[in-house]
Amino acid sequence: RAKLDGRDGSYTFNKELAEASSQKLLRIEDLRRALLQDEIILHYQPQKNLKTGALTGVEALVRWQHPKEGLIAPAQFVPLAEETGLILDLGLAVLVKACRQAKAWQDEGLVPVRMSVNMSTRQFQEPGLPKLVAAVLEETGLDPRWLEIEITESLIMKNVEAAVTRMGELTQLGLSLALDDFGTGYSSLSMLKRFPLTRLKIDRSFISEIPEDEDSMAIVSAVISLGQKLGLVVLAEGVETQAQADYLRQAGCEEVQGYLEGRPMPAAELRRTLP
Ligand code: C2E
Ligand code: MG
Ligand code: MG
Ligand code: MG
Repeated sequence: RAKLDGRDGSYTFNKELAEASSQKLLRIEDLRRALLQDEIILHYQPQKNLKTGALTGVEALVRWQHPKEGLIAPAQFVPLAEETGLILDLGLAVLVKACRQAKAWQDEGLVPVRMSVNMSTRQFQEPGLPKLVAAVLEETGLDPRWLEIEITESLIMKNVEAAVTRMGELTQLGLSLALDDFGTGYSSLSMLKRFPLTRLKIDRSFISEIPEDEDSMAIVSAVISLGQKLGLVVLAEGVETQAQADYLRQAGCEEVQGYLEGRPMPAAELRRTLP
């Protein structure tokens, strides 16, 4: 085969393609195994009030604790999970772990913190989602008001009507909703008022341009004042420097999340910072 196909170089090309897809299949199998063997873990990143410095919540961020490869970031496996449908099992595992953790901290007598959990399109659109979330809350014993679900603009924009309905079903359970990575999608600002959101998370790509880029700063300021007018809590993502925090404070931003305040960390580590 090598000889036949190899003359014009196509053999090499095809071989690479074939290897790529078999690599992918192996990865999918490995992820399936990881879910069964509970290699999915969560790190938690603090979200703080910019004025008082008080902890207002934590975001649960998934990692794969791989036996051979070590800790794997979500960008390396969440898209694959979405593509294959494994995200439904993965997402459920994340939700259960996050709710359980929040409840455990409360049971220890720590000040209750809101737990934010990311949700992908596939999960969000799943017909049984509201019932599933209700069951997880029931089983873990977490009061729904301490749970927040983060969704993205692109997810909403796929089908606005269906998304509004689904958001209503979720908020009816007593939890809150945040719009993640705001500014990267296509939703018009005026559409925001149609959605039952509590929190607006300005995407890191705008924050990282502060204080060098005038345009980004203008956008950030506009989003903050619009968010406030709509009664939303505005949170800036990816705040890394004091200069960024200072700018955001004077622009009226209420909350921040980023390396400046704390990186995503294991539960035990975050536990030590809890009041
Ligand atoms: P995201 O929800 O926007 O989460 C914020 C990401 O920014 C996290 O990356 C976090 O570690 C990173 N980050 C936070 N502060 C800073 C900062 O100051 N500087 C920089 N450079 N980065 C910062 P991570 O943990 O790698 O997660 C990436 C994305 O993967 C998340 O973006 C989210 O879209 C997705 N993801 C994570 N966990 C889950 C999950 O449980 N389910 C789903 N469906 N997606 C998840
Ligand atoms: Mg998020
Ligand atoms: Mg985000
Ligand atoms: Mg982001």
